[in-house]
Amino acid sequence: MFRLRFLSPRPRLGNKGRASDYQLLGHALAHEIGHLLLGPNSHSRTGIMRAHWNHDEIKRIARAQLLFTDQQAQRIRKEVSARDASQRLQLEEPPDVKF
Ligand SMILES: [Zn+2]
Repeated sequence: MFRLRFLSPRPRLGNKGRASDYQLLGHALAHEIGHLLLGPNSHSRTGIMRAHWNHDEIKRIARAQLLFTDQQAQRIRKEVSARDASQRLQLEEPPDVKF
């Protein structure tokens, strides 16, 4: 779980490294979706899945450079693909109708 504590008060970074509220919220949502798809203990030392974002992460958010790691992105793609295949399988199976 990521707390939105950083929204108020916002870190003072000057205009150059300042992330908008929309950027912060979008990245926080991506972080939470990451938890859903990566499972428990999915925080990492770097990237969007860091447990706490400091000024460096906020600057990267402002530049749209705070990302999932390559390994996390690969795991997310695999998880989404598995869920998609599972849903397609459910839709393709004929309903079990008994009279
Ligand atoms: Zn988290």
